[in-house]
Amino acid sequence: MWSRKRFDISWRDLMVGAARVFFSPEPDGTARRVERFWPDPEHTLVCLSVRSGFDLLLETLNLPRGSEVLVSAITIPHMVKILEHHGLTPVPVDLDPATMAPTADAWRRAVTPATRAILVAHLFGGRIDVTPILELAQRHKLYVFEDCAQAFTGFEYAGHPEADVSMFSFGAIKSTTALEGAVLRVRDGELLARMRTAQAGYPRQGRLAFGRRLLKYGLLKFLSFRPVAGFFVFVCRRVGCDYDAWVNGAVRGFPGADLIAKIRQQPPAPLLALMERRFRRFNAERWQRHAAKGRELTVRLNGAVLCPGTSSTPHNYWVFPVLVDEPPRLIEQLVRSGYDATQGVSLCVVPPPADRSEQKACFAEEFLKKVVFLPFYPELPTRRSQRMAAVVLDTLNPQPLPEKPAVGSAETA
Ligand SMILES: *Cc1c(COP(=O)(O)O)cnc(C)c1O
Repeated sequence: MWSRKRFDISWRDLMVGAARVFFSPEPDGTARRVERFWPDPEHTLVCLSVRSGFDLLLETLNLPRGSEVLVSAITIPHMVKILEHHGLTPVPVDLDPATMAPTADAWRRAVTPATRAILVAHLFGGRIDVTPILELAQRHKLYVFEDCAQAFTGFEYAGHPEADVSMFSFGAIKSTTALEGAVLRVRDGELLARMRTAQAGYPRQGRLAFGRRLLKYGLLKFLSFRPVAGFFVFVCRRVGCDYDAWVNGAVRGFPGADLIAKIRQQPPAPLLALMERRFRRFNAERWQRHAAKGRELTVRLNGAVLCPGTSSTPHNYWVFPVLVDEPPRLIEQLVRSGYDATQGVSLCVVPPPADRSEQKACFAEEFLKKVVFLPFYPELPTRRSQRMAAVVLDTLNPQPLPEKPAVGSAETA
């Protein structure tokens, strides 16, 4: 079974991380070294997670309560919670299937005098052009926050130089993961200095908590190993365990209540050491090869099935969603053929505020109902990806059975 997900981290990285739980370097110096991988390190801040950094940003900016923030209609639920925690009103802007981001026109129509900021997400590994958003923001004096959590492709794109803040995640399911950790790029040096000071007042997450994280993802990585994954899925299906829900729950960050207290922590020293190692050894070529495979899969599937977001360039196909009318039927066929596809995601559609029902994101809702995520990662060989495409095409357009001659009918008589 090709598991739905391969964590983008090697056994060796996990071992080195574990060693760092016991022999940690000094955290502040390590954080500065992590920041120096990025252009303009003085505009770079390492945080425990994107959620931590985004909360820190809003806490420091202190926008007037009741301000509207336009957001890409699909994101993770916690980003919405964090906006609300700061008294801000998230206003969804529906997505264009081609790029999985709102069009320039859709952003423009959503602006009101109460709008203060735009939070735009680059989804599924694609990167969109933010220039029209920056122009709009300049005209209306809005902040632009770029959510690059799913779009790290190397240090050559460190966020648009004119965006106010760009956020990159190295959380467990992201590419080049360190199991946690994020990098924020903040254009205004004075704002960044205030954020840095505020973060320095947070408690530091314990090293043992990070040690437990390493163990947990070591186990999940083991379960995603091909023969193990097949056995695991087989057993779960036999005993009727909803492994879909189990896996999706297991990889969710900061579960349970008290989100804000949990995210307001400084990154632990072993995490910083692991981020430094991952950045130092970052292999852009590996993801470029995967991107080429992604383009090939798109060509095979497109036309027969909608592959949303594939018009964005560059695109590293961190995940590969397709939209179909009957997701359970496709998933069943794929699982039978050894491909553990899933509908389950940690994403949500942002609901419109009560007085702005015209902002209801209809395509985003249809997307979540119709989406199937194919198992797709650098470890999947090209011929497997081609075989998977064939299964998808066969399921959607079953070959008609050859017509049987109607025995005994008038013609044959
Ligand atoms: C993963 C993700 C986040 C959160 O990143 P963390 O570093 O885990 O907090 C935010 N936005 C999007 C779109 C994401 O995919």
